[in-house]
Amino acid sequence: MAAKGSEPIETRLFINNEFRESSSKKTFDVVYPYTQEVVAQVHEADVNDVNDAVAAASAAFPAWRDLGVDARGAYLRKVSELFIEANDELARLETLCTGRPISQYVDGKMSADTWRSFADAGWNVQGTASTHTPGLLSLTVKEPYGVAAMIIPWNFPLVMFSMKMAAALAAGNTVVLKSSEKAPLTANQNYLVHRRRKTYPKSRLPSRRRQHHCRPRKPNRRRLAEHMDVRCISFTGSSLTGQKIQAAAAKSNMKHVHTELGGKSPAVVFEDADLESAAAQTQFSIRFNSGQVCVANSRIYVQESVAEKFTALFREQFAQYALGDPLDPATQQGPQIDVLQYKRVQEYLGIGEKDGELTVGGDAKDGFFVKPTIFEKVPEDSRVMREEIFGPVVAINTFKTEEEAIKKANDTEFGLYASVFTKDLDRAIRLSKALEAGTVGVNCTSPTNAKDAAFGGYKMSGTGREGLLYSIDNFVQTKSIIIKAGGTSAGFF
Ligand code: NAD
Repeated sequence: MAAKGSEPIETRLFINNEFRESSSKKTFDVVYPYTQEVVAQVHEADVNDVNDAVAAASAAFPAWRDLGVDARGAYLRKVSELFIEANDELARLETLCTGRPISQYVDGKMSADTWRSFADAGWNVQGTASTHTPGLLSLTVKEPYGVAAMIIPWNFPLVMFSMKMAAALAAGNTVVLKSSEKAPLTANQNYLVHRRRKTYPKSRLPSRRRQHHCRPRKPNRRRLAEHMDVRCISFTGSSLTGQKIQAAAAKSNMKHVHTELGGKSPAVVFEDADLESAAAQTQFSIRFNSGQVCVANSRIYVQESVAEKFTALFREQFAQYALGDPLDPATQQGPQIDVLQYKRVQEYLGIGEKDGELTVGGDAKDGFFVKPTIFEKVPEDSRVMREEIFGPVVAINTFKTEEEAIKKANDTEFGLYASVFTKDLDRAIRLSKALEAGTVGVNCTSPTNAKDAAFGGYKMSGTGREGLLYSIDNFVQTKSIIIKAGGTSAGFF
């Protein structure tokens, strides 16, 4: 049932403006996490395919760069329109590979917005001009790197795909994308674009080679990070893989690396907070996409005086959700993406039961489902408090003073998103400064985010920032141009 849809699924690689099988002819299975049936057998890129994709992107670079912002923007705008047209099909594909409920699918619209916004954003990529040095006019200009590689995870593939690719292309780079082997179907949306181009031959879609989708798996996937002709890499995934990418980049050609990595986000709830709102938001944060969200508030610190009331409110809402078939619009929580992720969460459930008190969930369910689970009184040095579980599993601990809350919240190597719930403005500002995270929510928590905010991590949660005003910075380098302007120069000559 799951595999059936109105459109066939494209499973080949997209290189040099055409779909093709992998050179090795090897494929791998993509499985619908709910039924565990194979929905597609997808081509696996080998080293030759990666090299071909990079070579094609390299050859296409000068022409794409020299098109200029308006002409590139026209292509991006068209892609945005096609995302809207293909929305239903993309929703089905995203659900089939990730198991995230289709009722929570907003990714197509978000992606369309992203492509449309970046269509004009190239104009904001500006340098400086100065005559401060006598006899010289000095300019800085921002230039694309050339071939930009992007590697994305499985939890929100389409959103990551769009944020990275639209920004890199708008800045004048050509790109090679490696999607996750667990969720490669929507990143291959090229085929939707491609098919519609045939439907609308007069539409001015990008017909030149400028984006390439290859899908290497172990051990070939590191090839992109090592490639000598890739000048920039943007990676979203776990901190462990981020370290490997940085090492591979350093060992090869010192390519520019931008990383968006894991999290162990704290939410701090003070006694003067609106507890109902805090409970509603924090429980949604950790349950959304079955807890498989980098910014999920997996640690909650609540002030002792209101701990009982807060946890009662939290528990009440946490257990209420409809688990089921992600393709059913009534379903609110789907399974974990695969058996590996399911087993990983089970391991942490065992650790949590040993180290703390299990108060909700924990018990098994058929398939890859994990029931929303709460642990309380878990020691701060437990692995449950320190490692990213990536499941609907939350630890709720208490604190007495503001200092204690800050110390506990910051006692982690991660720093992606932190939140504070309080009605005291002074305290909210103190906490916003003290919490070590790329984003701090005041009376709101993840996944809440402003469209024009910067998104990224402190500490081991990443380097660089993404967002409408920030992503392009990851894909441009600064060049100085010094012009001798007659007269005596204070420069060397
Ligand atoms: P992962 O690190 O296992 O894989 C991410 C991508 O990297 C996949 O495409 C994978 O195939 C590829 N990869 C793995 N090893 C590689 C290597 N040696 N060289 C090159 N590529 C390699 O992460 P995942 O399990 O796909 O995703 C979950 C992780 O992503 C979590 O840690 C989550 O917090 C993080 N994440 C972060 C953000 C963010 O914006 N900060 C967003 C989403 C997910």
